[in-house]
Amino acid sequence: MKSFETSRQLLADAKAYLAGGVASSLRSAMKPAPLYAVSGAGPRIHDADGNEYVDYLLAYGPLILGHAHPGFTEHVHQAMTRGVTFGLQHEGEIELARRLTEVLPCADKVALSGSGTEAVMLALRLARAYTGRKKVVRFHGHYHGWSDSIFTSFPSSDMRQTGASSSSQPEQILPGTGGQSPNALEDIILLPWNDPEGLEAALREHQDEIAAVISEPVMCNSGCMLPKPGYLERMSELTEELGIVMILDEVITGFRLSLGGAHGKFGLKPDLVTIGKALGGGIAISAVAGRREILNLIEEGTVSHLGTLNGNGVATSAALATIDELSKDGGAVYTRMEQTANEIVEGIRALLAKHGIPGIVNQAGPVFHMMFTNEKKVEDFASFNKRDSAKYSEFAGKMLEAGVLVRSNGLWYVSAVHGKQEVSDTLAAVDKALAAL
Ligand code: PMP
Repeated sequence: MKSFETSRQLLADAKAYLAGGVASSLRSAMKPAPLYAVSGAGPRIHDADGNEYVDYLLAYGPLILGHAHPGFTEHVHQAMTRGVTFGLQHEGEIELARRLTEVLPCADKVALSGSGTEAVMLALRLARAYTGRKKVVRFHGHYHGWSDSIFTSFPSSDMRQTGASSSSQPEQILPGTGGQSPNALEDIILLPWNDPEGLEAALREHQDEIAAVISEPVMCNSGCMLPKPGYLERMSELTEELGIVMILDEVITGFRLSLGGAHGKFGLKPDLVTIGKALGGGIAISAVAGRREILNLIEEGTVSHLGTLNGNGVATSAALATIDELSKDGGAVYTRMEQTANEIVEGIRALLAKHGIPGIVNQAGPVFHMMFTNEKKVEDFASFNKRDSAKYSEFAGKMLEAGVLVRSNGLWYVSAVHGKQEVSDTLAAVDKALAAL
């Protein structure tokens, strides 16, 4: 049995000074204890009790190059020796913006911020200013950060959603947290995802009021569900026809499904995308990218885009180093990451069958969601909500015991440096953990 005693003790100490004991609320959910990290190297992470794990949490997504990647670290270190931030302009931000316009097909221009939450705030503000409208369509099970105007109870309205609704009636929307401004969500229209008829009906009914539709291109936050063929294309046609800004929230999928994000991979041209997480390889940076006419509202002074540390030298160098690494050999890393993920996913499926445990793994390239469920397929939010999350959380605990760190909600990320050894260690751990359930 592994010991998690030091982590438990550190959490108890933290609670005296650090509000909530952890720095981001979600992290307290980890069982048997929220772990304290001391270091990471490549695909592996070490905790305060001296345990080593193969890491599939990857800091909730950003560590696409793994921990302490030498080229990345050297690049960022060099930037730090020149000064971390200036509050003035520097060439690194021009270089990064230029590179982003090259790699992101939808990008004429970009704006730089610090987190995914801020990028979404800016994208919504741009959309409202551009259209002169105020409502925003968002979808069940998607997450767009924790700002007041978009953070709904999550997963919200789960059991009321049928997945096949074509009703255009906006539902009652529950706030995501105590203390949220009471009117903050009054402009949100919440719809089922992957339902083109429902979307069309709602957009037509409220067309003069809707500024934006915001959607994850793959529903990574709830079951890693792929869009139905033609769904995002339909969203694109409808928003264009009705003068609505289409925002793809690529905070997870940006740089992860391809350097051009999901929209690059799927051949879509949204009006705006938000990217974060993998963009900075673990250093805080995010971006809004998209159409010139919309981004120009910032230059025209119509929309304020603020932030003391926006575009700082460490963050821009981290993003540039990430782009450099991910573009090597014509982007071969994406094929590699996908192959590694395929091997793990196929292995997990075979082990679920071997142990007679009903489960599903939904995969989008190097990110996948594993769940225990009796459903034959999980292709909508309603079926996603039928999974046994308590059992998965127990499984995640057993995986820690077996030397593999996975997020307790079922979403796994594979990095560029996970290799054969990690795959076999991981499948051995899955075998053990399933046997112990
Ligand atoms: N959008 C999506 C799709 C996300 O998954 C997240 C974070 N999980 C965010 C926005 C918010 O990003 P951040 O945590 O960097 O504020």
